[in-house]
Amino acid sequence: MARATLTSAMPDEILHLPKLRDVIAQAGLRPDKKLGQHFLLDANLLARIVRAAGDLAGQHVIEIGPGPGGLTRALLASDAAHVTAVEIDPRAITALAPLAAAYPERLTLHQGDALKLDVTTLVPPPRAIVANLPYNVGTPLLIRWLAQAGDFCGFTLMFQREVAERIVAAPATAAYGRLSVLAQWLCTVDIAFVLPAAAFWPPPKVESAIVRLTPRALQPPPGERAAMERLTAAAFGQRRKMLRGALKAIGGEALLNKADIEPGRRAETLTVQEFEALMHASMNQDGGLKRGRQFE
Ligand code: SAM
Repeated sequence: MARATLTSAMPDEILHLPKLRDVIAQAGLRPDKKLGQHFLLDANLLARIVRAAGDLAGQHVIEIGPGPGGLTRALLASDAAHVTAVEIDPRAITALAPLAAAYPERLTLHQGDALKLDVTTLVPPPRAIVANLPYNVGTPLLIRWLAQAGDFCGFTLMFQREVAERIVAAPATAAYGRLSVLAQWLCTVDIAFVLPAAAFWPPPKVESAIVRLTPRALQPPPGERAAMERLTAAAFGQRRKMLRGALKAIGGEALLNKADIEPGRRAETLTVQEFEALMHASMNQDGGLKRGRQFE
C-alpha cells in the first residue's frame, strides 16, 4: 500500500493499532494524579471532540498531553494536515511510538513541559490547539496562549467544568471574573458540551467540558494587552470592593469618570466593552497612548 494512502485518515483496525487499554497496559502507563492523567478511551467521544473543533483541513494541530493517544488517533482521522503532540510523561512518549510509526508524515511527538514551551515555534500557521488538558495546568496554559491568540485559528480545550464556566461567564454572575474578561476580549467563546466524570479513566472528582475559543480577527497590540491584564488584576483582586477603591492605585474615581463608569460599581458588573473603555482611559492617562483597536 502506498504511503500516501496509509497516512490518510484510516480506522485503527486497518492500521492494526492496539486497543488503548492495551497501549496503557503494555507501556505501564499507570495514571499519575500529579500529571492530571484522566484518560478518554471512548472512540465516539474522542471523535465528538474533534468534530467540535470544526474544519481542521490544512491546519497544523497541536495536542497537549496525548497520554495513550486516544485524542491523537481521532485527530489523525480528521483532515488536519499535521498533528504535533506535546507530552511531559516519557512513559506516554514510549506508548505513542507505534502510532508515530504508523503516521510518519502526519504525527510528530515532542517530549516536554507545555508550560515552558512556546508552541508556536513547533509548527507554522495555520495552527490550532485541540487538547484534553491536565486540570492542574489548564488555566495557566490558556492564559499563556491567550497572550498570543492571534497566532492561532482556534482552541478546542477540555477543562474541568467550573473553569469552562468561568471562561464563558456573563457579567453579574458568580463565575464571571478575570479569566472571562480576558478570554472574551480576545476570543469568541462557547461550551461545546459537558462530559460526566465517568467518561474518563480513572474518573476525576468533577465534571469536564469542552470549550471552543476562536481568536478575534483584530488582536490588540501588546501595550493594550498588558494594560488590560493590569486593570483586570486590580479590579478582580478585590472583587467585593467598589471600583473606586479597587482601582485606587491606577487612577480610582478619576479614571472611572473618564471612562464614564459609575465609581460605586463592582468589577463583576462591568461588561467586556466597559473593561476595554476603562483600559483605554488608563492608557491615555498613563502616557497618552493611542487606541489601537476596538471590538465590534
Ligand atoms: N489526551 C489524553 C486523553 O484524552 O486520554 C490524556 C489527557 S490527560 C487529562 C492529560 C495529559 O497531559 C497526560 O497525558 C499528562 O501526562 C499530560 N501533561 C500533564 N502536564 C503536562 C505538561 N505540563 N506538559 C505536557 N503534558 C502534560
